[in-house]
Amino acid sequence: MRMTKQRKAIIDLFKENSGKALSAEMMYHLVGDDKMNLSTVYRTMDKLLEAKLINKTVVNTVAYFYLAESEHNHFMICTNCQKMIPIGCVIKKFLPDLATQNHFKITGHDITIFGLCEECI
Ligand SMILES: [Zn+2]
Ligand SMILES: [Zn+2]
Repeated sequence: MRMTKQRKAIIDLFKENSGKALSAEMMYHLVGDDKMNLSTVYRTMDKLLEAKLINKTVVNTVAYFYLAESEHNHFMICTNCQKMIPIGCVIKKFLPDLATQNHFKITGHDITIFGLCEECI
């Protein structure tokens, strides 16, 4: 993937807001209308997703994005302030049994826990 100006701007934005999931609208407001319009933000997100540099999760029909980590991880996401709390992989140890019990070949999984962080309760 070519690191265009737009892609770099989005990656930098994630780094500046580390620990937060950002929606395309939030990024658009953070970057500023003069630099990037909303459709450019969406297109850039698609490219970064394709390159697996970011991950996507959907909370109440809104898509949020966050930087992909090299280590496999899951998150608890605060639906009020979008803070992300890493929780490791809580399901890994159950997968072999689930596969056996259901005669299922598991090829991947996705878990995100939603709620309110201690500042937002
Ligand atoms: Zn919160
Ligand atoms: Zn996992």
